[in-house]
Amino acid sequence: MAATELTEPANPLGVHALVWRPDGTSSPWRRAVEGAAAAGFDLLEIPLRDPSAVAAAALRPQLQAAGLRPVCLLGLPFDADVSSTDPQVAGRGEHLLLAALDVTVELGASYLGGVLYSAAGKYDRPPSAAGRRSTVEVLGRLADKAAGVGVTVGLEVVNRYETNLVNTAAQALALIDEIGAANLVVHLDTYHANIEETDVAAAIRATDDRLGYLHASESNRGPLGHGSVDFPAVFSALAATGYTGPIGFEGFTAADAPPALVASMALWRDHWDDPYAVARSARHFITSGLAIARRGAARERGRR
Ligand code: MN
Repeated sequence: MAATELTEPANPLGVHALVWRPDGTSSPWRRAVEGAAAAGFDLLEIPLRDPSAVAAAALRPQLQAAGLRPVCLLGLPFDADVSSTDPQVAGRGEHLLLAALDVTVELGASYLGGVLYSAAGKYDRPPSAAGRRSTVEVLGRLADKAAGVGVTVGLEVVNRYETNLVNTAAQALALIDEIGAANLVVHLDTYHANIEETDVAAAIRATDDRLGYLHASESNRGPLGHGSVDFPAVFSALAATGYTGPIGFEGFTAADAPPALVASMALWRDHWDDPYAVARSARHFITSGLAIARRGAARERGRR
């Protein structure tokens, strides 16, 4: 069934745990685990902003029972910024990254991504050469330790209000080249790329086989298809490069987010009432969009 194989999405599909409100119980991610599994996702994205707050020993068997694989995400706070020229601040950042790597391993995950190279927040100045050197050194050591435990490290490209260091895919590729570790990959997010890239599809094609993760996220962080991201162009670029890596739906609504996230991501509006419906709809949006793009790419190949 060659035609089916061409259109069947091979990409593991994920959803961010914070699509659901943590339920404040001893297993705060219960709703996310149940919701993600019920919606047919393969991966659940676990935020590790505070690695010690994630009870990995309890969560891992829940994920396994639900047939979900975990993916770990993190953005550094300003007081633990590895791009700081203050060695104490950068040291706290390295400590936090290594703690997150430990939890990643405890959860049985093989991917740690996010804003790992600076604070995730609005800077009031451009990056310094010394700060960038600090990032290169810390991430080199992190990548080395991660390689030893089979973890891939993704540098997520985010917009200018959430870092001053890596706003474009080209900047991520340059930073990864400078660090020079084989287990570092580019993590793109359509919400951020839609703000910063000249051409989102061209940015995806430029990362080619170094794209390790894609966040499908709408221009307003709400449900997919209810914003201005050109998803047909995104899916066509993924089909053109033959990307088979993970794609995660990342969306947030103010009511469902913890206060620290509300502040750092400027979540001032509610985009949905029913996280279960939003997750189901996002998965359908991604699978159908990919299938259409793959049929288009196959027709293109047939024409040549
Ligand atoms: Mn993202």
